Amino acid sequence: MLLVEATWKEIETYLLDSQAIVIPIGSVEQHGPMGLLGTDAMCAEVVARRAGEIGGFLVGPTLALGMAQSHLAFPGTISLKPSTLMAVVQDVVASLSNAGFRHIAFLNGHGGNIATVTAAFSEIHAQRSLQQDLDNLNLALRSWFDLPGIRKLLADMYPKGHGSHATPSEIAITQHLYPHAKKMAPLDPQIAADGRFTDAHDFRRRYPDGRKGSDPSLANPEDGAKLVEAAAQALAQEMVRYTNK
Ligand SMILES: [Zn+2]
Repeated sequence: MLLVEATWKEIETYLLDSQAIVIPIGSVEQHGPMGLLGTDAMCAEVVARRAGEIGGFLVGPTLALGMAQSHLAFPGTISLKPSTLMAVVQDVVASLSNAGFRHIAFLNGHGGNIATVTAAFSEIHAQRSLQQDLDNLNLALRSWFDLPGIRKLLADMYPKGHGSHATPSEIAITQHLYPHAKKMAPLDPQIAADGRFTDAHDFRRRYPDGRKGSDPSLANPEDGAKLVEAAAQALAQEMVRYTNK
């Protein structure tokens, strides 16, 4: 069930049986010369929604914007500062826990969100510790590409040229979902450089077309469909312990 397609009465009824919800979280940021700006939000959303169908749990609205400061030197990127994203996560958790949700899992599509969302969880737990809040609250953050079995699948699909940004796997998922928006572009070098970076200006200097370590021309929609199904099955499996069904 999708929260945005439900009424409040349906959510009230759902809460009698289960207090679990998954919130997809992504980013709107450059994804190299072939990748769509919405890639990370699209990937998180489709995996969470498919997992919700498999596991019968509630899926909340996608938090499309994330912490993408290092991509701000490329036009189209929209980034929340870490402090803003922390406030968003805290307010989302406060709203849901106020309604009775006790197991709130964020399904993430962007590596750059991980440190900030984890810090937001620490802030929430710190406040609860100080207030001696005794209600159980379980917060989880899972990235679709780190779910059980997915790294192995990625290594098998793309033995060379997967890289860490504008990867063929995430672009394959968007090609599967939005075939009308598929883009092609010349890539030079074929596999981009990879490594460290600091701010957006440093990122663009080191990685001029926006890719890191990847060859997105390896992407195809069939792989995208397989990845969505595998990640959704893995997420549904992880959620079993939180759903009282
Ligand atoms: Zn991405």
